[in-house]
Amino acid sequence: MELNILTLCYLIGSITFIIGLKMLSHPASARKGNLVAAAGMAIAIAGTIFLYKDEAGNGLHNYGWIFGGIAIGTIVGWMAAKKVKMTAMPEMVSLFNGMGGACAALISIVEFNHLVHGYTVETGAAFFASLNGTTLLIIMLGLIIGSVSFAGSIIAWGKLNGKIKDFSFNGQHIFNIVLLLLIVSLAIYIVVFSPAQTILFFYVVFLLSLIYGVLFVFPIGGADMPVVISLLNSFTGVAAACGGFLYDNKVMLTGGILVGAAGTLLTILMCKAMNRSLKNVLIGSFGGNKAVATGAAKEQGLYKEITLSDSAVLMAYANKIMIVPGYGLAVAQAQHICHELEKLLAEKGVEVKYAIHPVAGRMPGHMNVLLAEADVNYEKLLEMEQANDEFSTTDVVLVLGANDVVNPAAKKDPASPIYGMPILDVELAKTCIVNKRSMKPGYAGIENDLFFQPKTSMLFGDAKKVLQDLVAEIKSL
Ligand code: NDP
Repeated sequence: MELNILTLCYLIGSITFIIGLKMLSHPASARKGNLVAAAGMAIAIAGTIFLYKDEAGNGLHNYGWIFGGIAIGTIVGWMAAKKVKMTAMPEMVSLFNGMGGACAALISIVEFNHLVHGYTVETGAAFFASLNGTTLLIIMLGLIIGSVSFAGSIIAWGKLNGKIKDFSFNGQHIFNIVLLLLIVSLAIYIVVFSPAQTILFFYVVFLLSLIYGVLFVFPIGGADMPVVISLLNSFTGVAAACGGFLYDNKVMLTGGILVGAAGTLLTILMCKAMNRSLKNVLIGSFGGNKAVATGAAKEQGLYKEITLSDSAVLMAYANKIMIVPGYGLAVAQAQHICHELEKLLAEKGVEVKYAIHPVAGRMPGHMNVLLAEADVNYEKLLEMEQANDEFSTTDVVLVLGANDVVNPAAKKDPASPIYGMPILDVELAKTCIVNKRSMKPGYAGIENDLFFQPKTSMLFGDAKKVLQDLVAEIKSL
């Protein structure tokens, strides 16, 4: 009976994950979707703790450790989530993802130790030869994928918060490929032949996988970071599914497969959004030092500035305005005042919409979340393709702290590191006002020709302050 209730708990957990995931695909239902999936997870965890029985009919013990761990994890996770700024969300996603990878690798290590329990020097290779090959295979998969995901995510976390700089050496890609082949060969050797040195080789694979995770993410920079984070996310999902397989735990298996599949789909979609193949991302060493060098080598042209009052007049008497939010809007926490400006303009009869680039900001969906927080109507958010169709009929584009996602070099300059990335065609509009604090480059570290075009005017200043002043100016007209 208890087992049946436990199975029911797992079924509820699996179904709520799927419903939650579906709800996450729309901003209006995303918050509830998260809660639904979390409630399902809570039911599955509680069911496991209180109802699980092994073949001998024994339930779990070690309650002190279990609840101690849950309490520490809850407090740390809660505080981190409460404290984190919107701009630091990708770092947190990366860090949490790394923890998932570490858990999967630890499960493999623990299960390996269970499997080889009873080994003595005398039993030697004969002992290993009797091990269950499938179990060993899943353990090795969980170990490799989990360790790569853990080490890679920690490096991604460090790179996103600026603590770790891009690093690469000549021939690093070849070195990485050789390292990966060595890891895979050693794992196959362990699974197929189970030699007398199985325990030693197991830990060598563990160490090499950690090194591979570090070296794999180190050279990737610039706009390719979101793709890598999403890829690492799918790795963690697959590694967790390996854990589910080992424990014959259906909800862990379902959850892992869902995360793995969702992460893979997101990776593919983001590669499409940036017009890059995954292979290109992984071996291309995008952005980083190379990008800065390209930008610095370019000659800076002349740009023109616009005053607050001229901007206010231009906007108040326009028919149609498109706002392009970027990372700078998030840093300035200017989403609320931006919404106020939009409402004010709408009252004056101006049609205002937002053009959202899929990789604007520092993580996928960053701008949607930010604007949803300020209660901006979802109907006003245009995806890149829709926005590009509408720019030619737009009077004023207001670029707020966005840079790379409106850089025409992506279309026109084959030498540019962002060449091929689809961008918002803001230059098609009649006028373009760009708000940022200086002429400094954006995330990819490259010059932006948009700022030097005749239709573009620069409105310098912190996005929040500039928007507050714009609202005041328009009110006084
Ligand atoms: P960018 O980083 O290209 O540009 C942001 C601009 O905002 C900067 O040029 C900066 O200029 C300006 N800025 C910073 N602070 C402020 C402020 N307080 N007020 C006004 N402006 C400010 O951002 P985009 O959104 O255009 O592009 C995102 C980039 O990040 C892309 O390259 C993307 O691929 C990459 N990326 C995206 C991820 C994702 O998943 N979405 C993840 C990781 C990277 P200044 O200093 O002069 O003010």
